[in-house]
Amino acid sequence: MPSSSPRYPLELLAPAGDSDALDAALAAGADAVYFGVGILNARRRARNLRTEDLAAAVRRVHDHGARAYLTLNTDITERELGQAARLLELARQAGVDAVLVRDPALLAWPGLFPNLSFHLSTQGCATNAADVAAARRLGLSRVVLARELSLPEIAAAAGVPGIETELFVQGALCYGVSGRCLLSSWGGGRSGNRGLCASPCRVPWRVGEHGPGQVLSMRDLSAVDRLEELSRAGVTAIKIEGRMKNAAWVAAAVRLYRQALDGAAAGDLHAAAADLGAYTGRRLTSAYLDGQRDHLTGTAGREDTATAADEATTPENDDANETTNADEADDGAGGDTNAETMRTYALAIAAGADGIRCRCTCEGQVRDWVLPRTQVRRAGTGVAAAEVLRELAAADLQGFRLAAESSSAEAEMVLAPRTVRGIRDQLSAFLHQRRRQASQRPRLDLPEAVRAALVRAAPDASNTRMLGERPDRVRLSASALPAFARAVPAVTLVVEGAAAADLDAWLAAVPAARLVVALPAVIFPDRLGLAEALLQRAAAAGLRLEVNSLGMADRARAAGASWEAGPGLAVLNSLAARALRDWGAAAVCLSVEADRQQLEEVSRACPAPAVLQVYGRPPLLVTRVEVPRACLGEVFADRRGIRLVPRQEDGLAVYRPQEPCSLMHLRNPGIRVAHLAADLVGAPDPVAEWHSLGQPRAERAFTFNYDRRLT
Ligand code: SF4
Repeated sequence: MPSSSPRYPLELLAPAGDSDALDAALAAGADAVYFGVGILNARRRARNLRTEDLAAAVRRVHDHGARAYLTLNTDITERELGQAARLLELARQAGVDAVLVRDPALLAWPGLFPNLSFHLSTQGCATNAADVAAARRLGLSRVVLARELSLPEIAAAAGVPGIETELFVQGALCYGVSGRCLLSSWGGGRSGNRGLCASPCRVPWRVGEHGPGQVLSMRDLSAVDRLEELSRAGVTAIKIEGRMKNAAWVAAAVRLYRQALDGAAAGDLHAAAADLGAYTGRRLTSAYLDGQRDHLTGTAGREDTATAADEATTPENDDANETTNADEADDGAGGDTNAETMRTYALAIAAGADGIRCRCTCEGQVRDWVLPRTQVRRAGTGVAAAEVLRELAAADLQGFRLAAESSSAEAEMVLAPRTVRGIRDQLSAFLHQRRRQASQRPRLDLPEAVRAALVRAAPDASNTRMLGERPDRVRLSASALPAFARAVPAVTLVVEGAAAADLDAWLAAVPAARLVVALPAVIFPDRLGLAEALLQRAAAAGLRLEVNSLGMADRARAAGASWEAGPGLAVLNSLAARALRDWGAAAVCLSVEADRQQLEEVSRACPAPAVLQVYGRPPLLVTRVEVPRACLGEVFADRRGIRLVPRQEDGLAVYRPQEPCSLMHLRNPGIRVAHLAADLVGAPDPVAEWHSLGQPRAERAFTFNYDRRLT
């Protein structure tokens, strides 16, 4: 149990990846626990709690005098909105104390669920006091601060009155700023922003001719001996990362931090913290608190207790993790099978002595079947097992989606058409049965106000430009603007990396109507003044702003500026678009990660003018880690052939892919937006690249997640 008068009165918040960890955390003295239910959380690979266990779990938490926090901190697709609303209502009924969110749709919902507080997840990328103040204005009661802040920066954020702050003190660190990382999504559709990161930053990378080495793999965080400073800085709560870690580790971590809060000697704490660190084998650091941004990564920071291959598939970061646990794929709130609720199933195909063995796992139920091994009689008619999975992933079956962990032991195994039909038939029958059983479960009635909030508005009339038409917008870095504006008339220019002092010269050369001034997506306190000066100057000049953070949205509103929401506030559902429109955004940006179906669904219902990026090199990693000067501009390559190039942008290192993705060759009348944008930031020669866009290419372009699935 917590001591009644700890030396440092900070709330101790522990991870509960499952019921055992939850009980262990409570027994060890946690003041609060956080957990996910089902799949809408940034830790989808954790076992998570089941909906039917939620009320009892919350009762146990409250019986210990602790608080229960639910993580619902992923980007939400159009189909998942109903599921999210039902989960929130279920949480409210169960007595959950707070929910951690990130999606703009959910940021608009505090107040809809009485007695349920809303916290901004670290996936919400709160890096400065303006972000914290914006969260307060939205009605949130707490913000989980970015992990890259120094002590004075934490103090400034925690000094915003009327809202609490929470900080990670132990566990894994991301190389990229949380909530802004697209690396795993780029590599295979497994998005950190959807709770499925495969931790590609942990694998070896070659840098130019050097390596490979684990140059992007961060040390783990441990601030067990810094609690006095954090207490003085004014944070409310300290948080232990580790929903993938077992109950014994959680208990040890909570005991350690309880001792630290009670004022134990630093020497004793260090030894115990080292034991905790042995779980991953990485060395520990609290260097960000001191403003140190180098020597935080690499093999030098790692002992050899885990392999790189393990890490590529076993992420440990609390707010960025991987694969769906099919046992927990229930929509979590009453079994409604309408279109808003997308359940998942996993399928494994393998060759056995008795034939082709298949296993489908769906909502805790498993069906096995074996199909005879039929010979492929006619050349060209066989289908590779991996292709069968790809085809299943391309379309929903009985209202279910194929989960990311679906596999074939032998991807190249060729199956006869008859076998493929057999797989589909059995699968369909099983899923149909699951669907019927689910529909017989009691339904959770949503309050009238919540049902009203789920009603979609009419799509905005300006969303008429079809995917396949020529882009009418170009995204550029400030240094490329003058030459580009002279060479390419008639397109709107969205300019990144500007300074307030640049604007007069630009306005002398380019009509204001052609310019949109983009504010950074990540603004640490050392650049906050520059961003605010740019915002004020652009607003005074009547220029439109592109806003990419909550804090700047708040400031743009206050300044009466014309602004639109950029990729940093990207939307994956139409209610997020509506929320941003209601905050004052004149346009919204569809998520560059979205797959074809998601783009169709969100654009069909988008109640604000929408922007779709159809070409470019999106920022895959934005980091505060100092990248050695010699590595800037070098190619970082992993074993799978992903190639990144870091550059300095707005005071941070930004890794963009060497080669662009492109939807330029696609036509889809089902995707209609107000603007199609080509992102030429990172292009070696933006003018030449713009002129090349309309020309047919020999090789097929990489379409990011459009042709596969964002999971
Ligand atoms: S989300 Fe974190 S763990 Fe995943 S790739 Fe990005 S930096 Fe690495």
